[in-house]
Amino acid sequence: MPGPAAIIREIHRLKKHIVDLRNELDRGPIRLKKHHDRVARLEDMAKEAEDALRKLKVAVQEKELALKSTHQLIEKHKRQLNEAASTKEYEALLAEIENEKKTCQQLEDEIIAGLEEVEVRAAKLPELAAEADKLKQQTPKIQEELQTRRNEITELLSQAHKQLEAVEATLPADFRDQYNRLVKLQNENAFAEVHGRTCSACYTEITMQCYNDLLQEQFRLCESCGRMIYLPQSSRASVEES
Ligand SMILES: [Zn+2]
Repeated sequence: MPGPAAIIREIHRLKKHIVDLRNELDRGPIRLKKHHDRVARLEDMAKEAEDALRKLKVAVQEKELALKSTHQLIEKHKRQLNEAASTKEYEALLAEIENEKKTCQQLEDEIIAGLEEVEVRAAKLPELAAEADKLKQQTPKIQEELQTRRNEITELLSQAHKQLEAVEATLPADFRDQYNRLVKLQNENAFAEVHGRTCSACYTEITMQCYNDLLQEQFRLCESCGRMIYLPQSSRASVEES
């Protein structure tokens, strides 16, 4: 029959196992949320790209209208040239026509650039939407995976709790109160493995006497941090073999 220190070692193993399982359980919803966030971000990007394209098209249309009305203005001013009452008026009209022609050239350049950009952006739009859609379609699979793992973990947790209860029941009555008090305070942190002769929780060296007691699987606390300590499984095995 294993001594108290060996029982403590097994209890610590089970408690750490339970903590790991609970942590994994907690990570499930976080993973799902991250996935939803990614889908939402891509959908937003697709929508923003669509809006930007729509605005760009409107801006190009406005420039086309401005170009048309500037052309009309040039025609009107050209007609007015014939009716000019003075040289001054005539020259003023000529200067205006010159300016309007520059405006037309500028608008034409901007329209061409705008149309090119509309083409480039319109080509990218389906890619973005398809990417968002593809990611969204993965949602049920991810949900199913998480649910399956969740069921597995729940089962494993139930088993681990039963094992823990069974192992705790084998602790000698003499240590039960102390054990309960320490576990109530610190739960899985109430235990520490000894590496070499050092407590792995507080890095304090234990005495030779304490070490020998642990080799005999006696119930011992770290004199420095007060945790229930034990040697790794292999230490005891090597003593038994020798
Ligand atoms: Zn310690």
